[in-house]
Amino acid sequence: MIVLRDPVSMRAWSREQRLAGRIIGFVPTMGALHEGHASLMRAAVRANDVAVLSIFVNPTQFGPNEDYDAYPRTFDADRALAEEAGIAAIYAPTASSLYPAGYATYVDVERLGERLCGRSRPGHFRGVTTIVTKLFNAVEPDRAYFGQKDAQQCAIIRRMARDLDFGIEIVEMPTVREADGLAMSSRNRYLGEEDRRRALSLSQALAAGRARLEAGERDPEQVLRAVRARIEETEGVELDYAELVDADNIEPIDRVRGRVLLAVAARVGPARLIDNIQYEVPEECC
Ligand code: AMP
Repeated sequence: MIVLRDPVSMRAWSREQRLAGRIIGFVPTMGALHEGHASLMRAAVRANDVAVLSIFVNPTQFGPNEDYDAYPRTFDADRALAEEAGIAAIYAPTASSLYPAGYATYVDVERLGERLCGRSRPGHFRGVTTIVTKLFNAVEPDRAYFGQKDAQQCAIIRRMARDLDFGIEIVEMPTVREADGLAMSSRNRYLGEEDRRRALSLSQALAAGRARLEAGERDPEQVLRAVRARIEETEGVELDYAELVDADNIEPIDRVRGRVLLAVAARVGPARLIDNIQYEVPEECC
């Protein structure tokens, strides 16, 4: 496994692979890897000739009062997990090689980035789409793997890849959870014992929403009432949003139909956590 530290050497390595006729799978991350990232890596290794993992804590997707400095950086452990998964190359660029002095170019996907997390984290998705574009340009993958845990991010990346003719297949992988239902996240490391217990209210609230949907509830407000109630009754958890939207375009809906995304974000102690589920209305019901 090779570690590459700047876009020029990354691209040179990728070009060699391509010349040898190899298909490249790519998993972009910010490191502090867990089993959710491992599932993406394994999928990329399985379906492609070579797989690249990137590790970069991207400053442009963090707001001024967010956790950029505190974000966990665990390169040695990450390298071991990548090796175990069968990754061929780690792209871990330095910040100065990606954002040299005078850097001025950003990629912005309109509308999709304005709701849900976009509302509470202004500029966040602009940072994400900018770094993903830069990573795509250096790695030049055939396929790129993203987790549904960040469902809005998936929708935005899909839109961007189509709009900008990247010619990269975007593959979405299901959310990997702890045994008790908590969605795995690098930010779970911020949680003490008490907050770890409180954090369960997110997945439990989504389960309450799913139960309503499965019982045939089609009024978004009724579903959301059950979701909000479960989170608001938990002391020490501050709800940011609970929303039910169209899963493809993240637009609000007035009635549940097709494929919908039920998404929540909440602050639990020092961590801002997100989680979501998707639900597809069975055909015979419509
Ligand atoms: P991050 O390092 O948190 O920016 O995430 C890198 C990639 O891993 C993103 O595509 C995430 O959606 C994905 N990911 C993070 N957590 C999970 C999880 N629990 N299950 C599946 N994918 C995940």
